[in-house]
Amino acid sequence: MRDIFKEVEKIEEEIVELRRKIHMHPELGFEEVKTSELVYNYLKDLGIEVKKFAKTGVTGILKGYGDKTIAIRADMDALPIQEENEVEYASKIQGKMHACGHDVHTAILLGTAKILVGMKDELKGNVKFIFQPAEETTGGALPMIEEGVLENPKVDAIIGLHVDPELQVGQIGITYGKAHASSDMIDIIVKGKSGHGAAPHKAVDAIVIAANIINMLQTVISRKVDPLNPIVLTIGTIEGGYARNIIADEVKMSGIIRMMEEEKRDEIVKMVEKICNNVAKAMGGEIKFKRTKGYSCLVNHKDITDLVKKTASFLLGEHNVIEVLPTMGVEDFAYFLKKVPGTFYKLGCGNREKGIDKPLHNSKFNVDESCIKIGIAVHVSTVLNYLASGD
Ligand SMILES: [Zn+2]
Ligand SMILES: [Zn+2]
Repeated sequence: MRDIFKEVEKIEEEIVELRRKIHMHPELGFEEVKTSELVYNYLKDLGIEVKKFAKTGVTGILKGYGDKTIAIRADMDALPIQEENEVEYASKIQGKMHACGHDVHTAILLGTAKILVGMKDELKGNVKFIFQPAEETTGGALPMIEEGVLENPKVDAIIGLHVDPELQVGQIGITYGKAHASSDMIDIIVKGKSGHGAAPHKAVDAIVIAANIINMLQTVISRKVDPLNPIVLTIGTIEGGYARNIIADEVKMSGIIRMMEEEKRDEIVKMVEKICNNVAKAMGGEIKFKRTKGYSCLVNHKDITDLVKKTASFLLGEHNVIEVLPTMGVEDFAYFLKKVPGTFYKLGCGNREKGIDKPLHNSKFNVDESCIKIGIAVHVSTVLNYLASGD
């Protein structure tokens, strides 16, 4: 099994080059035209059956001689960030950058496909390679599922990975159960009545109402929610007012509620709306409240998480497989896990000695590229172990 690294090393250079090529040409959500084309052609050249999904999504199916099917997912989109790395493969597109490592995810999955094609005759089942668009924006996972990406053949298990600069290259992070939060975006418009700053009693001050709403929300969230079930509400923008001597009649705020309990989402959002309403009413104003549902909670399944843990421990040593805490960040791989058992694991890409330690979404984010061969090895071995297992 350790020989898997020997196989991967044969293609390592090629896949690193592919990653750099994708890195130089970042594309935002649902605009991944060139990336999608590159993926499509690469899979096709490998002799894999390829299909397009959800505008820029691509899926490849490699058929083995068993009935079981395991899927592996990579996301392809970049971020609207100006890259500040001084490397020869830095982004060539002004204001766009692969600052979340999706270039690495895509390259790893292409490398995984190449290795598995070479093992086709021994494959005891099918492998589906899912390349999805728009993880950073409105989400490509759900539209791909709705278009049937998990059918024909029906997917029995799914895995995916994300690079993690907090883990060192050579380490793998796993999380049992809840791993990523859900998100609900909220927009609040506070309505008051404008007037002269010298005569507040003749007006309704929307700014004071907004200030009270924010305070009340933060207090209620900390008092009304079980502290063992994390929830975080952040008001990220607030705007209103015209001049220092005018009482504002309108304030707009926007924020996000993130939480780990899918079942309680509606209840919490309703509570937040009620607080906004009641505070505004008590002060003579009113509000308009809008909720936009973001991604669901991501919950890993035990059996497949066990499988990745076992596989990665064998390849990298037990001490390099680390149980990492959940994050309040979101990830639309969640939708695949709602349909199919699977796990989303973290691939260490940091290297303190080389100064590779910038966080995701940073304009100087980069990876230690030796994480690519590790990602491929863990993907390939997990697939082989899954297909070789009894059911
Ligand atoms: Zn991201
Ligand atoms: Zn990401």
